[in-house]
Amino acid sequence: MRDMIEVKRVVEAVEMAEGAGARVRRVFPNQHLRHVDPFVLMDEFTVEPSAGFPEHPHGGFEAVTYMLDGAFRHRDDLGNDQIVSAGGVQRFTAGQRIVHAELPGSGDTSHGLQLWVNLPRTLKKVEPAYQPVPASQIPEADEDGVRVRTVVGAGSPVELHTTVRYLDVVLPSGRSFEECIPSGWRGLVYVLEGEIALGARTLQRGQAATFEEGGRLEVTAGCDARFALIAGEPHGEPIRLRGSFVR
Ligand code: FE
Repeated sequence: MRDMIEVKRVVEAVEMAEGAGARVRRVFPNQHLRHVDPFVLMDEFTVEPSAGFPEHPHGGFEAVTYMLDGAFRHRDDLGNDQIVSAGGVQRFTAGQRIVHAELPGSGDTSHGLQLWVNLPRTLKKVEPAYQPVPASQIPEADEDGVRVRTVVGAGSPVELHTTVRYLDVVLPSGRSFEECIPSGWRGLVYVLEGEIALGARTLQRGQAATFEEGGRLEVTAGCDARFALIAGEPHGEPIRLRGSFVR
């Protein structure tokens, strides 16, 4: 059996205003945590029907938007205009440059996670692209009340230029979940609901635990919990975030 992963840091997401009237809990970067190579930025966003993210440019990274509630409409200068609802994913590759708007896609509050994945230096100028994935195409396994959805990774159609495993786990009170993280990978666990324990560390909603090595990750639910487990192969290159571009 492999060694248990050591938690590097436990941090609290920072609430802030973003876009036009949107609210985010920024897991990173913030004053507590910079980046988690290969990941540049992670937000849990809440967008009322009247708010959103009007047209703006991006470059140098890829983004995975995973919807938890409501729906999100993505429109870009490649001609895409799509709405993805709860449980689905939108992925865009900004590459050399993309201009897009993200707005609520229904009359309900839009709630989800957005993760920015760095592009390696050799792929910074790749052609921009967009991929919508409806909830029905995201693999889901239910074992005895533990529900695991593979947002990115084995079985998921979401395509990225970086090797990433991204799981959405619903864990009933008192139950445990184990995952083996490949050696050399980095990542985090972010609590969406309830309370979890990783070894001796306890995490509440809005908190994240980071790790910088592979090994056996064991999460136990202190009460009914939902969390995102996100891990990937680092690029080992400097991450330079400049506004909405990653150089
Ligand atoms: Fe954007």
